[in-house]
Amino acid sequence: MRIDAKQSETEREDRAEIRLSGLGVSPGIAIGPAYIGDAGDLPVSESRIAEDAIAAERSRFAEAVAVSLKQLRKLKSKAANLPGSAAEEIGYILDAHVAMLSNSRLVRGVDERIGAARINAERAVQIEIDAIAESFAAMRDSYLAARIDDIRLVGTRLIRNLIKKPYAAYSGVPEGTIILAEELTPADTALMDPRHIGGFATVFGGAESHTAIMARALGLPAVLGVTGLLLRARSGATVVIDGGEGTVVLDPAPETIHAYEARRDALFRERRTLGRLRRLPAVTRDGVEIRLEANVDLPVELDQAVAHGAMGLGLVRSEFLYMNRDDLPGEDEQYEAFAALVRGMGGLPVTLRTLDLGGEKFARSLSGLFGEAANPALGLRAIRLSLKERRLLDAQLAAMLRVATLGPVRILLPMISTAGEIRRVREIMDQIARRLRRRGVELPKPLPPLGAMIEVPGAALAADALAAEADFFAIGTNDLVQYTLAIDRTDEQVAHLYNPLHPAVLRLIQFAIEAALRRGVPISVCGEMAGEPRFSALLVGLGLRNLSMAPRNIPRVKQRLRSLDMVAATRRARAIMDQSDSGRIAALLDDFNAMAWPH
Ligand code: PEP
Ligand code: MG
Repeated sequence: MRIDAKQSETEREDRAEIRLSGLGVSPGIAIGPAYIGDAGDLPVSESRIAEDAIAAERSRFAEAVAVSLKQLRKLKSKAANLPGSAAEEIGYILDAHVAMLSNSRLVRGVDERIGAARINAERAVQIEIDAIAESFAAMRDSYLAARIDDIRLVGTRLIRNLIKKPYAAYSGVPEGTIILAEELTPADTALMDPRHIGGFATVFGGAESHTAIMARALGLPAVLGVTGLLLRARSGATVVIDGGEGTVVLDPAPETIHAYEARRDALFRERRTLGRLRRLPAVTRDGVEIRLEANVDLPVELDQAVAHGAMGLGLVRSEFLYMNRDDLPGEDEQYEAFAALVRGMGGLPVTLRTLDLGGEKFARSLSGLFGEAANPALGLRAIRLSLKERRLLDAQLAAMLRVATLGPVRILLPMISTAGEIRRVREIMDQIARRLRRRGVELPKPLPPLGAMIEVPGAALAADALAAEADFFAIGTNDLVQYTLAIDRTDEQVAHLYNPLHPAVLRLIQFAIEAALRRGVPISVCGEMAGEPRFSALLVGLGLRNLSMAPRNIPRVKQRLRSLDMVAATRRARAIMDQSDSGRIAALLDDFNAMAWPH
């Protein structure tokens, strides 16, 4: 890991502060030394390749070159929006990187080395990069010397794409380090220890991406989609990030640091005040009780859920068990992980969701299953993957059924689009239950409720039909918005179009709630919309009585609900649903919030 020595005073004086903006996805202020994640040394080991495996290794390398070129082109098109000479400057560098990957000495050299030395591609890249850098240095040409850093960056990109390993857990960095990177996957983020890492900012990433959700889960201030972030950032130099406002300040002036320190302290005091709500119920002024539950993406959030007074776990994203490892978790390991959550909640309900991998959520152990889908979010994701790969579903259902003996458990299925999928899972669940009972395992009778996520527009529209098969519904607004409006939730370029107040989204939510109420099927919301106090009046006004959110959001939502009059909220929700313009909808909601919630 390379962290530059602390910059000298004179050097710092030379640098004017640079303010950049992006999507503030996880609130909080972090001030600390930068670490450029993409520049980190990656662990490369050498392995021998058998004669008959050389062709496959070469095509693995060719694929890494293609992926790298695609990333560079994406970066270039984004950089085109930078102001002034920055677009030209970064465009020039990126063109040089593209040239280094286009039928170049580097590409040919690696290809030859794989065959001649019979070594794995990542090691061949490392050797070739060192050789090129050495020959550039020997020429004593200042132009070539300046290219050495570029060739190393290209090498790191290739290796990263070859080993597909997340960044190491940043364990060697100084405390409070702020990670700056081109892109961080949800798995990369899951490795960050908030006791060590202050926060992070990236060039790519949308506000409802799982990377953003993971940042909120860990309470790490984060700003995504920051154009030009890596152009002037330097490892070791001070950075400020404001994850609420979406600001990144490189080389901040002393007065800027003071201002942000004051804001950080104010936020801390506010959080402490909200903490006092822990023991108070989430009841509206006119006495309607709302159940506030917690979403858990990582086991560490259990303590947060309890500390914030969650009335249960409304969504356990079991994907965490599959990330950052090369093998699959077995039934027993999953049982232990779920059991810790069920026990930890001490008799409150726990909703375990079967895995939702595919799309942007990637697990190395399953990488062979997905192929090259043009639209991964529409492909083999979530329940589709589980039903295709029965060993995955069977192990999860068995573990979930077994923990149901420890406390009230519900089983939730992601990305349901047809009633047949629920029916099929129920048949499988019954078979597994019979098998477990034959083994002498005692299971509760009846078996745990089996529910469906309502996150595909078709599922919302067919909620009546799904209600005949599902025991409960959980509305996933993150995907519902993505699929209804055709907005990739991970793409910062279309993030401004991602709008939960679009009338089409609200009508689908209303439709699902009405179908559920008609059929007597319990319904909740567990998408990020549930954790935003701005939307609370609208959601409960539409009839919802159960909201599940990142544990840290519970106090703010509770505070909002306690200031709310349900009769007025219901009336306002009705007025909102009469509108067809999202601007008007936002105005009606914000006016209502300002009236009933003046602070
Ligand atoms: C959702 O889509 O709203 C949801 C809760 O699921 P996830 O964010 O895991 O896709
Ligand atoms: Mg979803």
